[in-house]
Amino acid sequence: MRILLVEDDVALQRSLAAQLRRAAYAVDTVADGVEAEYLGDEEAYDGVILDLGLPGRPGLEVLRHWRSRGNRVPVLVLTARDAWHERVDGLKAGADDYLGKPFHPEELLARLEALLRRASGAAPGERLEVGEVVLDEDHQQVRVGAGPAQPLTATEYRLLRYFLLHPGKVLSKQRLTDHVYAYDDDRDSNVIEVYVRRLRKKIGAERIRTLRGQGYVFEAS
Ligand code: CA
Repeated sequence: MRILLVEDDVALQRSLAAQLRRAAYAVDTVADGVEAEYLGDEEAYDGVILDLGLPGRPGLEVLRHWRSRGNRVPVLVLTARDAWHERVDGLKAGADDYLGKPFHPEELLARLEALLRRASGAAPGERLEVGEVVLDEDHQQVRVGAGPAQPLTATEYRLLRYFLLHPGKVLSKQRLTDHVYAYDDDRDSNVIEVYVRRLRKKIGAERIRTLRGQGYVFEAS
């Protein structure tokens, strides 16, 4: 899952980005409203964390712009503590959730996770599983049926999580690349083939079907 983190407080941005990456998200960071608006329109994000007080263009304007263009990316706004009007304005502008500063990073991660689950139609709080494949999100491991827990690298984990959130759907290599890698990563879509092969070794080759010229399908059952 790929996240856009929009925050102009450099220290906060840095520490949040580090925590998000530890939680195996691909993260792009930006500190300016104009740049944020552009990236949100051009790149394929699964979610956005949006500070409201930004140089260049206020967060609320950025959000209104996205929504007016039909950009439905899930957005969690960061508001000033006790500023109830900011929370109201944020929700009216199309935010999906909000969090008042200062906040505990654990709460941000939990809210973000719930937001992404709802957006993909999966129930928040339930473990992520399709058929016999069960993802252990706390330890970044996968288990198949009664088999042993197998550790996943960060990229394998991001890719498998994306598959499990979109079972039965045709996912092109480009789409997988867009959602598994950050902007600054080396984004060669051929690398996805390598990671699919590694996942197949861990969970069974039959679970990820190749559709020639179209992409991959994670078997729904
Ligand atoms: Ca700010």
